[in-house]
Amino acid sequence: MKTITEERREIPVAGETDVLVIGGGLAGVAAAVAAARNGVSVTLLEKTIALGGLATLGHVCVYLPIDDGLGHRIYGGLAEELMQVCCRYSYNDIPDCWKGSPWKVEAPTGRYQCTFNIPACVMALDEYMAEEGVKVMFDTSVCMPIMEGNRCKGVIVENKSGRSAYLAKMVVDASGDSDVLYRAGADCETQKSIVSTWTYELDVDRIKNETASNDVLANIRMRWFGLRPDVDNSKSEIPTFYGTTADGVNDYVHFSRTLALDYLKKHDRPGYAFMTMPTLPQFRMTRRLRGLKEMQVIEGAHEEHSVGMVIHCLENPAAVYEFPYEAVIDKRIENIAAAGRMVSAGGRGWEIMRCIPNCVFTGQVSGTAAALAIRNGVTLQGVNVEALQQNLADTGVVIHIPEELRENSKKERIMGRRAPGVASIATDSLSYPKTEH
Ligand SMILES: Cc1cc2nc3c(=O)[nH]c(=O)nc-3n(C[C@H](O)[C@H](O)[C@H](O)COP(=O)(O)OP(=O)(O)OC[C@H]3O[C@@H](n4cnc5c(N)ncnc54)[C@H](O)[C@@H]3O)c2cc1C
Repeated sequence: MKTITEERREIPVAGETDVLVIGGGLAGVAAAVAAARNGVSVTLLEKTIALGGLATLGHVCVYLPIDDGLGHRIYGGLAEELMQVCCRYSYNDIPDCWKGSPWKVEAPTGRYQCTFNIPACVMALDEYMAEEGVKVMFDTSVCMPIMEGNRCKGVIVENKSGRSAYLAKMVVDASGDSDVLYRAGADCETQKSIVSTWTYELDVDRIKNETASNDVLANIRMRWFGLRPDVDNSKSEIPTFYGTTADGVNDYVHFSRTLALDYLKKHDRPGYAFMTMPTLPQFRMTRRLRGLKEMQVIEGAHEEHSVGMVIHCLENPAAVYEFPYEAVIDKRIENIAAAGRMVSAGGRGWEIMRCIPNCVFTGQVSGTAAALAIRNGVTLQGVNVEALQQNLADTGVVIHIPEELRENSKKERIMGRRAPGVASIATDSLSYPKTEH
């Protein structure tokens, strides 16, 4: 590849803070709130102009269940709190049995999940960050970490004011793609992602003829282009793309919009409209950290350094796992923690940890660890894990799988007892088999 040398230049320091969070997806929001509540100053840098990441600009407005399908609430702390924030305004389809946030429901009538309104969520997140005292800088793209050996002093950014630097004691990489950790030299795994584009449609004829409902959710239909991750796609000709290269992102965007336009051309009529288009490419798994430890997907296994229980939120009923602290930190880099869909979990673990409740959970872990490291003058590797566990437990996170849940859960899973799923938005899957494409 042809190269040129970039000119050396002085740049202004636009800000200094204790904890710098890169990326304002739900993981970044949780990291920022967790750090701020632990008494440190926090700045969050976001390249778009809204918080929520894939959950808002990527149209994934489905906060997957935080219960195991057997009537046990698995998540407390910010993973539960953020669900309430996402549906603070507009509609809210949390089943009645979970209102009041019980730990156990004898006969659940639905999963503890919610579908939320995207614009209302974006504005609620703005309000939430102001309430928590987090400074948010929109339209600010992080280009490079500033490294001094194994320590990150801050980051170089680009925004409308040009190039500048933000300095920090601790950094949380919540970019979804490990952009900061990777550029700092961390060991990462990269993979291609399937095309899976969600949009929402308004069909006046359908509303008149079929739904006749005053419930706004019943009148919104999700339209899904591309492939589903849970079916055999081997016969499909739809390509996969890297979300970590300029060409990969551009090819994905062009391809997914062509699928949407093809559909519109076939179904174009007065009374039918796409209401919105995603403004983030909808990549599921792109690049993740291979950290000090990998999450082990072993049902019920004990992790001494567990920082909370997690489930595969799409499973019903769901097996329960313990997630280790060392899966959010690098082997070498002292002060950049990972949060969200890029933590150290490979294979099925990656699939599990990309679900929204788990992204928020790891955001809380990383934000809290960063604040504790500052308070105690240690590196992320030097954080006292017992103190971290206690801190998280105090907010309602359950650190180790309780014996009762371990035993009951296995028995009931074998018996196949489960709570009904909540079907709140109809989805259409268009997988284009070879013969038709
Ligand atoms: C099609 C699809 C369907 C899904 N369905 C569901 C579902 O139904 N329920 C569910 O729970 N999960 C679902 N998921 C997964 C879930 O939506 C995501 O994994 C989760 O929202 C990721 O959150 P995050 O905060 O880790 O990352 P992201 O949401 O990706 O946030 C990263 C943020 O960082 C910002 N950023 C990136 N790079 C930079 C940079 N250099 N400088 C500054 N900012 C930067 C981005 O703009 C973004 O705001 C789905 C995902 C996809 C793609």
